[in-house]
Amino acid sequence: MNALPTRMRAMVLNRAGAPLDCVERDRPRPGPHQVLVRVRACGVCRTDLHIVDDELPGIRHPIIPGHEIVGEVVERGPSAELPAGTRVGVPWLGWTCGSCDFCRKGQENLCGSARFTGCQIDGGYADYVVADERYCFPLAGGLDDAHAAPLLCAGLIGYRSLRMTGDARRIGLYGFGAAAHIVAQVARHEGRECLAFVRPGDDEAARFARELGCSWAGSSDSRPPAELDAAIIFAPAGPLVPAALAAVRRGGTVVCGGIHMSDIPSFPYALLWGERTVRSVANLTRRDGEEFLALAPRIPLHTEVTTFALEDANEALARLREGRLTGAAVLLPGA
Ligand SMILES: [Zn+2]
Ligand SMILES: [Zn+2]
Repeated sequence: MNALPTRMRAMVLNRAGAPLDCVERDRPRPGPHQVLVRVRACGVCRTDLHIVDDELPGIRHPIIPGHEIVGEVVERGPSAELPAGTRVGVPWLGWTCGSCDFCRKGQENLCGSARFTGCQIDGGYADYVVADERYCFPLAGGLDDAHAAPLLCAGLIGYRSLRMTGDARRIGLYGFGAAAHIVAQVARHEGRECLAFVRPGDDEAARFARELGCSWAGSSDSRPPAELDAAIIFAPAGPLVPAALAAVRRGGTVVCGGIHMSDIPSFPYALLWGERTVRSVANLTRRDGEEFLALAPRIPLHTEVTTFALEDANEALARLREGRLTGAAVLLPGA
């Protein structure tokens, strides 16, 4: 194998609230069960904003964010088996204990000792990343690197959220960004109807939602034309919870797909009455990843991306924060 460079570029969060610093540092080395991955593309997730804003527990500083990584294995550590040249996806779930009750019951997404890529483990806003191969997903052909990156979190969490709606036929999607634009395609593939709720005045997002097959798209403060069987909230706004409850039928479920949300205002019990359910979706399991990545090419899923150079990560984050993106932002370190 050609000698790899000993140094690499990385966008580093040194302290909460600071812009990411573009630095040159030593390339990491893979330890046991780990592979060194050359990053080809890394998606920018809303969770990265919550990490910058210090809204999640246990964030390590300094940290390289980024957990929607598509890259190529270039070196393996002891006991690692993925051959060099393998195209892999590196997701948010980076490590779990394997022995707690949750891990043993197929709920590794809830493991109390779990470590997450781009939060406790350096992530993909860099030329190279080291990842535990047992948590990586080999990626077949299909989408190119940039278009595959958003599947690794927006797609996966969206998929898990959709599963939590059971057999709901008519689903409201609150916040039509990276996750919703993928979920809408999966739901439509399964013969479900999607309605999109966007920020008041965001005509571009409403147009995008209709283009992806949503039967209705309107402002999040408006009532849908028909009762929903379920709703998925991707926008980090607590007031959407009572709004969604008011829009779902008796027995319906409201799924909160984000990792962080502003406070939920109090609301009359009547909104929950009628056996309505509010639940959250936390992280992902490897099984979610295997199922979803096998399903993606069969649909086939398409993603809308806006690409940025690695050094422009701060600009990508700013545009995500301000809602000035259609689909997903993706960094391309090789560009
Ligand atoms: Zn565990
Ligand atoms: Zn994410």
